[in-house]
Formats: sequence, structure tokens, C-alpha cells
Amino acid sequence: MVKSSIAGYPVIGENREWKRALEAFWSKKTSVEELLQTTKEIRLANLKKQQQAGVDQIAVGDFTLYDRVLDTSAMFGIIPARYNWQGGQVSTSTYFSMARGNDDAVASEMTKWFNTNYHYIVPEYEGQRFQLTENKPLAAYREAKQELGIEGKPVLLGPYTLLKLSKGYEEKDVPSIILQLIPLYQKVLQELQDEGVQWVQIDEPILCTSITSDEMKAVTEIYSQLTKNIDGLNILLQTYFDSVEHYEDTIALPVTGIGLDFVHGGDKNLENLNKIGFPKDKVLAAGIIDGRNIWRSDLDAKLILLETIKQQVKAEKLWIQPSSSLLHVPVTVRSEKKLDTTILNALAFADEKIKEINILQAALTQGKDSVSADLKQNKESLVAFNALPARKRPDVRDATSGSILSDSKRNSPFTERKVKQQEKFQLPLLPTTTIGSFPQTPEVRATRNKWRKGEITDQQYKDFVNAEIKEWIDIQEDLGLDVLVHGEFERTDMVEYFGEKLDGFVFTEKAWVQSYGSRCVKPPIIFGDVAFTEAMTVEESVYAKSLTDHEVKGMLTGPVTILNWSFVRDDLSREAVTNQIALALRKEIESLEAAGIHMIQVDEPALREGLPLKKSEWKQYLDWAVNAFRVSTASVEDTTQIHTHMCYCDFNHFIEAISDLDADVISIETSRSHGDLIESFNSYHYDKGIGLGVYDIHSPRVPAVEEMTEIIDKGLEVLDPSQFWINPDCGLKTRKREETVAALKNMVIATEVARERLGVTVK
Ligand code: GLN
Ligand code: ZN
Repeated sequence: MVKSSIAGYPVIGENREWKRALEAFWSKKTSVEELLQTTKEIRLANLKKQQQAGVDQIAVGDFTLYDRVLDTSAMFGIIPARYNWQGGQVSTSTYFSMARGNDDAVASEMTKWFNTNYHYIVPEYEGQRFQLTENKPLAAYREAKQELGIEGKPVLLGPYTLLKLSKGYEEKDVPSIILQLIPLYQKVLQELQDEGVQWVQIDEPILCTSITSDEMKAVTEIYSQLTKNIDGLNILLQTYFDSVEHYEDTIALPVTGIGLDFVHGGDKNLENLNKIGFPKDKVLAAGIIDGRNIWRSDLDAKLILLETIKQQVKAEKLWIQPSSSLLHVPVTVRSEKKLDTTILNALAFADEKIKEINILQAALTQGKDSVSADLKQNKESLVAFNALPARKRPDVRDATSGSILSDSKRNSPFTERKVKQQEKFQLPLLPTTTIGSFPQTPEVRATRNKWRKGEITDQQYKDFVNAEIKEWIDIQEDLGLDVLVHGEFERTDMVEYFGEKLDGFVFTEKAWVQSYGSRCVKPPIIFGDVAFTEAMTVEESVYAKSLTDHEVKGMLTGPVTILNWSFVRDDLSREAVTNQIALALRKEIESLEAAGIHMIQVDEPALREGLPLKKSEWKQYLDWAVNAFRVSTASVEDTTQIHTHMCYCDFNHFIEAISDLDADVISIETSRSHGDLIESFNSYHYDKGIGLGVYDIHSPRVPAVEEMTEIIDKGLEVLDPSQFWINPDCGLKTRKREETVAALKNMVIATEVARERLGVTVK
């Protein structure tokens, strides 16, 4: 009999109860006992829903108080010395110190989980001796069994993925790290077996990245060691987010089940399955419902896919499940009360995806007739949705099929533009600027909320925003900054703000997903063709410009970032959707230029996270992503200066692509990446304007002048003064006003010091 399975479920709760519990504890409003009690209730409620839905294989142990990779580090004692941990079970306080820092020790680094917007805490290897501090999956299994009678499937992050996601070791340390990890994993598995656990799920998404054959050999060796003496326990090796790189070796691993993603990278997995087959004695956990997007599945199409899979795998060895953990999608559509019904009916969040799995399971085990009403309703919903005129607009389709897309180049090459722009702007050497936003104070947010609720008029709100703009233009002038910004006071979020003004987007009330720690995001949904309707940023920029003789940078979010931070329709390619956004933004940029704004910054902080898991696919992605940016920006005059901004570094890998954006100036984050980036300019000659973030805005600390001069000096070793800009490393919206002013003041002084050293006198 075909079984249903879930690889992981969102922790946050239908109303983000989890977030509130954590934040109440952090702000000392609740005790640790209360935190543990509340989160236990949330955890059990999550499991109960899956139990009531009749899921056969429910994941347990995927719940977390912050992050699942951090849980694994804590479980194996991979704890940096700076937290003064003395061995034994890791206390909540040590755990949260690693996640968030404490008075004496900075937090561990956080980075994106593969190509998702979920962030994990990077394990730090310092040569420490690992130890098993707690068998977390076992505790989770016992709890689910005792409290709810669930025969759960404990989930564990696999050793090879853990290793590859860690930092602080060299290649030569790998064997000894593996040798340390294996006995600990063995112990965990042994104890699970002794407890009578039937299935354990070990996640190894790293098998979907471009790992080499030698690395795959190491994986095979690890798993033959791990599975020694645990014949009584079934192991499901779970992969997701793409096809496995080494299909034959993966299916030959000494485990009893393999989980494959048939949605993301699904074609390749399916092709391999058809060509190479699948071992008769193993279970295939087939990820057939998209675990990362929010659309209702076409169940008829999924049944056809399942028929194909069933030619290789017998029903009693087949599990059907979402393609990955459901942590990447919101909890339930039931919470949405305001969406248009046709659109609402086309959505499926975590709970609705479980329902889809149930329907498919029933169709396979009891025949399609047993679920004919469900299948009919599914089909009708999708037909109605696809018939919405907004899904296919002739004007948008015409525009995006034209030559504009392949032919987007600035009129003149950068070297010529540079001269013309300098003539026009007359900027001093090492011009200073900021990234766009200024503090979103409680007052700014409260006023926006009042306006949204209709408690103040449009005019009152506009007056308020303008007063903020004016105040900050004055501050920037007093500080002596060269290029000013309006401050982004009108925006909640850099993607939402644009989505709300463009056609093709809808917004939810409660469709939150975990981004990092307790922070959740509510991505906009791109459901239809994207088109420009009205100017989005012109008024604010023009107002700001009217107050000063300085240049004011116009400010908008780029097409790739809007795409990567939204839930995107899946009937068009991501490239096609990005091109629609790009053309809409092009109109905005042209309107800004026409209104006299001659420096325009187009932010692309999320360009990097769209990179595919497999290196072989990077080029294709970067080609269309870079092209989309150029579609937005290339139609301006030579004398209009296009800026872009990216945070989250690691640019070394794709500095050429960045250069191809052909932005006149880029500002990037360097203060946290310890000069790595600076080094890469040694090997690649970057000729355009570049602002290296000279201080980290993520901390409330006001940086000293010397810290910034040091970064400037380092940058000047590899970059020419005439291309060098000076700015903080990201927008300042999360900072307080006093901190911001103090830090920028020091930044301007550091710039003057640097100019003096270069022998330049500034008026
Ligand atoms: N212009 C945006 C800001 O200043 C950029 C934000 C970002 O890079 N994430 O807030
Ligand atoms: Zn940034």
C-alpha cells in the first residue's frame, strides 16, 4: 500500500505563536519553563494536525527553538569556545547565545539554507572534541508517542551535509571530523533502534549540489559505517531542492529508503529513475507536491507522474510526500479572509498540501473514483484561476517578446559614461553616500498603521512622510554627505512596497514563513502578469531633490530581488516573470529620469540567493538575471548614473556577472566578510564605481573613525581612488536615529582623513 509521508512541518503556528513565545522569553517577560511549556504545546498541536489528517509517516524532531542546524551543533557539542560551555546538555542560554550573541561573545554566523530564504546558524569547527549532549530525535519520538500515540519518524541532519555546511576546517581535517562524528551518529541511531523506532529520516540535501565522485565515495563510506549493527532500524535518506548529482551511487547507499525531489530538479530525477531504475528492496519517498511554493497542485498531472514512478517502484515500497520540509510555506490558507476567491482556491499552504497528499494516496490505493469529488473540485479551481485575464495579458506578453529583452545595452560604454557623469556631478574624490533607508522609528510605523486603518487622511500621511524627508535631508547636509537619499520612510518592505503598486501581485494576511530565528516574512504572491500602473517613487525623490542642491539618488528594488523574495507563479519560467518585472521597472526608471532624478539606485540584495544548487546551472541563471537588470536600467542617458546595491557577500564567485550588470556604481557589504572581497579585486580588474561598506549596520555599536579608515585603506590598496565610494554596508532602517547620526559623522571624518592622505583638499 502506498504510504503518505511528511518530511517536516512549519514550527511557527497558525498565528505565529512560536515567534511570540520566543520573543517574550528574550525580552524576559517569561521564564524558561514557560517558554518550554508554550513551545511544547505548539509542537504537539502541529503534530496533532498531521495525525488527524491521517499522515502515515509524520516527521518528529524537526521542531526547533531557533534553527535545526544549530540544534544539530548543540546535540554534538560543536560549540565554539567563546560561549564557555563546559560540556553536558547545552542550556537554553548557551543555545541562544550561539544564535544571537551575548554581552561577551558575538553570535555565530548565519547564512542562507541552500537557495531558500531560510537562514541557518553556521557550525564552527575549532578542533573541539565532539560529544553527544542529548539524543534529540529520541526525545522527540518519545514525546510524540507518549502524548499523542504517534509512531513518529525522527528527523536528523545527515553528517555529510553537516560537515559541508560547517566552517573553520581545512580539507585535511575532513577525515578526522568524520571519524569523530560517526560514533556519535551511531549512538543516536542505536538508541533509536533500542527504543523500537521503525523509520528515521536523515537529511542530506548536499547530495543535490555539485559534489564530486570522490566526495560521493566518502558519503558511501560514511553510510556503511553508520548503518553497521543497526539492522533493526530503517533509514530514509532524504534529499531535496534538486536532483541528486550521483543517482546510481545514491540509490545504492546502504539504507532502506531514499527520498527524491520530483518537483525541483524533478525531470532529471525522473529521467534517472526511468533509465536506471530503483532497487526493489528500497522504499522510494517521492516528493511530488511542491514543498516550497504555495500553489495548489494539478492533481491529475500528479497522478500521471505517479503512474510513471510506479512503473519502477511497487506500491508497497512507495511513499508520497511534499518535495521538501513544509517549513518553507505558510501554515494554512484558512487564515486568509480577504483574498479573491478564485485566487484563494488556487493556493495550497502546508495543511492543504497534506490534504493533496491524502487525495493522491486515496486515488492510488482505493481508486480515483473514491476521490472523484476532490479531483473535480481541484480541476475546476485551477481552470477558473487560469482563466483570469490578469494571468495572461496581451499587452504584457507583446512587450516581453520584443527585442528590448535581448538588446538592452547602455548607449555608451562605461569609460565614456564615467567622464560625462563626472563632468555633470563634479563629485569630490571618495564620494560619501548611504544605501537608502533611514531609521523607521516607532513613530514612522505607527503613523503608517494609522493611515492604513483610515485613521488619518492620505494628505496627513503624505505630510508626515515629507516632514521626515525634509528632516533627514537637513541632517545629511549637516553631516556633509555628498550624495543624498530621501530615506524610504514610505516603505514597509522593499519588495512589498513595489508589489502593492504593480499589477500581478496579491498580498496575504497571515502567510508567514520563517526566515531566520523568530523572524518571519510574508512574501508577496506573483499570480498574474506583472505590469507598471503608476509612478511608485517619483514623488518622494522629486520632493527630496527640491530641498537641496546635492544630488538625490532615486531608489528602487531590482527585478531579480522582487522575484526571489516573492512566491512566484509556476506556469511561467522564473526568467519570463523577471522580464515582466524588469520592463515595469524600466518605466519607473524612465519616469524618475524624466522628473530630473539623475542618480538611480536599483537594489539587488537577493541576486545571489537565486543561484541554483548545481554550479553547472549558475551561468544560465546569471545570464538571465543580469539581463533583467539591464532591461530595467539600460535605457537612461549616459549622464544618468545607475547605482546598485547588494549585501550578503561572497561575490568572489561571480564578480564578472556583477560587472556585467553595467551599473555605474555598486555598493556592497564588506565589513563582515573580512576583506575576502577586497582580495578578489586583486585577481579581477573591476573598473566601475564601487562603494565598500565601511561599517556594519546590523549592530547598534557606533564604529570608531579608525575602524573605518582601516577598511578604506585596505580597499584603496586594490581599488583606484577615482572609483571608490564610501558608505555604510546596508540601509539604516533598523537603527536608531542617534546611532545613525553618530556613525555617519565618523564615516565622514574617516573619509576626510583618507582624502587628506591622498593629498586631496576638499572645499
Ligand atoms: N535601499 C534598501 C535600504 O536601504 C536596501 C536594503 C537591502 O539591501 N536589503 O534599506
Ligand atoms: Zn543591503
